[in-house]
Amino acid sequence: MLTNRPRGTNDFLPGETEKWQYIEQAMRNICRTFGYKEIRTPIFEHTELFLRSVGDTSDIVEKEMYSFEDKAFRHLTLRPENTAGVVRAFLENRLYADPQPTKLYYIGPMFRYDQPQAGRYRQFNQFGVEVMGSNDPSVDGEVIALAAELFKGLGLKNLTVKINTVGCKDCRPNHSKNLKEYFSQYKDELCPTCQSRLERNPLRILDCKEEKCKEIAKGAPTTIEAACDNCKSHFAKVQKYLDMAGISYQVDTNLVRGLDYYTNTAFEIVVNTIGSAQNAVCGGGRYNGLLEQIGSTDMPGIGFAVGMERLLLTMKEQGIELSLEENPAVYIASLGEKAAEAAFGITHELRKRGIYAEKDYLSRSLKAQMKGADRLKVKYVVIIGDDELAKNALVVRNMADGSQEEVAIEEIVNYLEGRLKNV
Ligand code: AMP
Repeated sequence: MLTNRPRGTNDFLPGETEKWQYIEQAMRNICRTFGYKEIRTPIFEHTELFLRSVGDTSDIVEKEMYSFEDKAFRHLTLRPENTAGVVRAFLENRLYADPQPTKLYYIGPMFRYDQPQAGRYRQFNQFGVEVMGSNDPSVDGEVIALAAELFKGLGLKNLTVKINTVGCKDCRPNHSKNLKEYFSQYKDELCPTCQSRLERNPLRILDCKEEKCKEIAKGAPTTIEAACDNCKSHFAKVQKYLDMAGISYQVDTNLVRGLDYYTNTAFEIVVNTIGSAQNAVCGGGRYNGLLEQIGSTDMPGIGFAVGMERLLLTMKEQGIELSLEENPAVYIASLGEKAAEAAFGITHELRKRGIYAEKDYLSRSLKAQMKGADRLKVKYVVIIGDDELAKNALVVRNMADGSQEEVAIEEIVNYLEGRLKNV
């Protein structure tokens, strides 16, 4: 073996990929009814895009980006998240000239140079939505409800929707000032990262995972205390819409998100698992300043991302079993060269009619083929040997009851199609 897969990456094999297709389909279905259209953007972007959007005090930019120079010395980065790319595409393709809002979704891989562990990978997949062009709080309600309904539809239990407001460009400075004053009293007790955050972005201290910092953060002044009237009323309306949608939620005044671009509503959906830390399967929020930061169009936006590996892991932990592997309906067993050719033709005809059919590819004995068909749990086996061809009477065995019938080769496809319709 020449080499293994890179650290922090996964191979998803048959048996697993069906589950991916299943959750992806659930995502596409819910987006259809909510009116979100798919967008596909490049997997790499100019590094500058992430520096200017995700923010230089975020963990992503500080330590997690897969950045490289291409042969023409361009600075490029494998996307660590997709809001920046979608916003860039929205601006570059002038989607803002269309009737607003623009409601988009994406499904695809993201890359972060993170310490790999269960549920955390260097290449992972996200499903996300982004809505641009409306600051209406009903959009916030809709976006959160979309994620919550998706999870409910997949059968997830013990979910908590956590929401907060992180303020806007008018009131956030007040909040930062309050936080700076508060955390300054504990400066020496904060971790080194948070000590530097104190100067650069005290809001991020609320997001620190260090126990000591978390403890101190519990007494921190809340955003809502510093919020301006607009932010307060926006937040109250978001809650009203969530109530109307029947989505229960908790206001978590310490909830800030790891990326710098969030304004107003921030939210997470966490799964409470017994014995282990809360697991965030979805995170998002408003980013009303981001479009102006990336382009020159001052339009509001909001979105979320769902970690798909984490979602599948959570479904597994909760015992939501998806056995989606499909078995072929028919196996065409053959013995001899002529029979093998006939088997190829029949298999192809069946497949053209949408019937999942399999055949032998290894010139195995009839016994081995029958064993294989049994393992595949097929409904019918067609047996073709020289005798059967000479008599033009192929043997069709019904695997459910072991009964057999003889069918002419020109009739075999119609015969099987008819039988399978009645199953
Ligand atoms: P974020 O983009 O950091 O807000 O994360 C959104 C979601 O993506 C999280 O709730 C996680 O479920 C998932 N996620 C983030 N980073 C990783 C990672 N390194 N590996 C797997 N999933 C991740």
